[in-house]
Order: sequence, then C-alpha cells, then structure tokens
Amino acid sequence: MLPVIALIGRPNVGKSTLFNRLTRSRDALVADFPGLTRDRQYGFGKQGPVPYLIIDTGGVAGGEEGISELMAEQTVTALKEADVAIVMVDGRSGRTAADEYVASLARQHAKQTWLVANKAEGLDPDIVGSEFHALGIGEPVSISAAHGDRVAALMDEVLAPF
Ligand code: GDP
Ligand code: MG
Repeated sequence: MLPVIALIGRPNVGKSTLFNRLTRSRDALVADFPGLTRDRQYGFGKQGPVPYLIIDTGGVAGGEEGISELMAEQTVTALKEADVAIVMVDGRSGRTAADEYVASLARQHAKQTWLVANKAEGLDPDIVGSEFHALGIGEPVSISAAHGDRVAALMDEVLAPF
C-alpha cells in the first residue's frame, strides 16, 4: 500500500509550497494571502524508490491566527486518511494558538506525527526548537520549502518505515 502523508497546519505556513515541491506540480494554489486553497489536494511524490501520496489541506477560511470550523474538519479528514502527519509551523513567527489547535488535532487523530518548522532558511534550529517544543509533538525539523533546504532529508526520515 502506498504511504499517505497529510500536510497540516494553520494558513500561510507554507504547506502548498512544500506540496508543490514534492509533487513538482502546480496543482496546489500558492498565494500570499491565506485562505485561497479551496479544498484538499492529492498528489504523488517519490523519495528515492519509495512512492507516496501526499495530501495538502487548504485554508478554506480562517485568518493567519485562526482556524475555521471547515478547516478543522478538513484537517481531521486528512489525518484519518493518512499514515503520517506533517504538522507545519512557521519558524519565523512565534507559536500561535492556531498551531496549538492543529497540534492537538494531530495528537488526537494522527497515527504518526512529524513537526516541521518551515521558512527556517537562515534561522538557528536550536531557537526554533525551543519555540515549538512546547507544542508537545516532538522536536521540530527545520526546513525551507521555498528554497528546498533539508526537504529531501526530512522525506527520507518520514518514509524510512515504509
Ligand atoms: P499555506 O497556506 O500553508 O499553503 O502556505 P503557502 O504555501 O501558500 O505559503 C504562504 C506564504 O509563505 C507564501 O508567500 C510563500 O511564498 C511563503 N513561503 C513558503 N515557504 C517558505 C519558505 O521556506 N521560506 C519563506 N521565507 N517563505 C515561504
Ligand atoms: Mg495552501
């Protein structure tokens, strides 16, 4: 069976940017304003010899700081479909209430969780670690979805059990 990975996180953390990089497609809408991706997007990725299915959850509504009911619903649906959840946060902004809410959904519904701090180009991973450790879902892996930093290494680790 194909491993299924769900990308979850509050709007604007860079989920669609990572999805596009992994699927090398423009299927997921990347925009500067949160709330544009209308629904879940499914794409195929491949890490070395291992193919996988990846789900990009959109920000149906809900601002930078908030998660709408619809978005929470979408997130839970994706978590139930997935073998692994990548919980994405923005390494450049602090931890928010919406991050804590998404982390709690992952704790309730994910089979396996990876915490990923995006936009971490040029940031000290130790500082990012101390900020997001408090989410209670492990130590964050710092990446830059836009620049591609540490993305392949992350996916190697995520897919190692499959
Ligand atoms: P989503 O709402 O979580 O799907 O986030 P998007 O992928 O739409 O990205 C939101 C914004 O963050 C866009 O302006 C992206 O260009 C920007 N972004 C995404 N990844 C990175 C990154 O690694 N570094 C920086 N500096 N910006 C990024
Ligand atoms: Mg998006």
